[in-house]
Amino acid sequence: MAKVKKTSNEGFIEIEDKSRYLNENYPFQNVPGLSEKRRCIHCDEIINVRDYKVYRDKRGNEFIVCPNSPECEGSVIDWIRC
Ligand SMILES: [Zn+2]
Repeated sequence: MAKVKKTSNEGFIEIEDKSRYLNENYPFQNVPGLSEKRRCIHCDEIINVRDYKVYRDKRGNEFIVCPNSPECEGSVIDWIRC
């Protein structure tokens, strides 16, 4: 009996060049610098932009998410200026 292989590479992925990734994937204008801070409205914490994480879903879509993920379900759209 063949075992079902887990083919998806769903999960958090390593980003080598966080500055470039952010520039290319930030969903809004005015991409923040890595040294900037934002408040995540989900976990209500001040986060450093450079600590962002990237999550890849089953379909291969990538999302910039809160550094406190997976405990926090916030993503880049939940960050506000502080
Ligand atoms: Zn958060």
